[in-house]
Amino acid sequence: MKIIMLGAPGAGKGTQAKKIAAKYEIPHISTGDIFRANIKNGTELGKKAKTYMDQGLLVPDELVVDLVVDRVNQEDCSRGYVLDGFPRTIPQAEALDKALAAQGQKMDYAIDVDVPDQNIVQRMGGRRACVGCGATYHLVYAAPKKEGICDTCGAELILRDDDKPETVEKRLGVYHEQTQPLIDYYTKAGILKTVDGTVAMEDVFEAIVSILGE
Ligand code: AMP
Repeated sequence: MKIIMLGAPGAGKGTQAKKIAAKYEIPHISTGDIFRANIKNGTELGKKAKTYMDQGLLVPDELVVDLVVDRVNQEDCSRGYVLDGFPRTIPQAEALDKALAAQGQKMDYAIDVDVPDQNIVQRMGGRRACVGCGATYHLVYAAPKKEGICDTCGAELILRDDDKPETVEKRLGVYHEQTQPLIDYYTKAGILKTVDGTVAMEDVFEAIVSILGE
């Protein structure tokens, strides 16, 4: 089962992608996580990506596409995977389709986690990320057991630069301009499914499972 998660930054697609990956036993591939790991490790790719990410801009397509195509060709993806944060532009979607078509494959579902902008701004200000392992929390919806400390690895929790209010506004603008056209793209491809992302996390997941099947 090959799944794409769509939705504005902060819509909760990462959370749902992790739950899908666990239930259906397929890899969760988050391009944002891949870039953050590269930044942490000080790689060339990380250095290039950071300049865009800190401004709320998309990393150029040429830095993303090969990375994802290589990843989905790995052995652990043979039963499918869930893509989180990719594709984010029409050229990325076309490049993915082309790479899959060359192997006689295609995506099965594009799930849009739908949340209005005003909810997003409110949500993202409460997001906290672990500097150690990258786990994410929310001050209101998913608070850590001890304030400011990661439950999993004990490292410090911070508000990511790209979750700061001014960057969030910018990212929403970028989303509407560059990523929202994918809704049309996958509607035309006949694989778009929309779920209401404003309800409780478990209810969003239930809606997704009813689409994907038990
Ligand atoms: P995310 O964690 O998915 O919200 O991604 C964080 C940031 O990484 C985005 O704001 C972009 O700067 C960059 N990024 C992640 N995925 C992509 C992508 N598919 N194309 C371009 N930039 C991306």
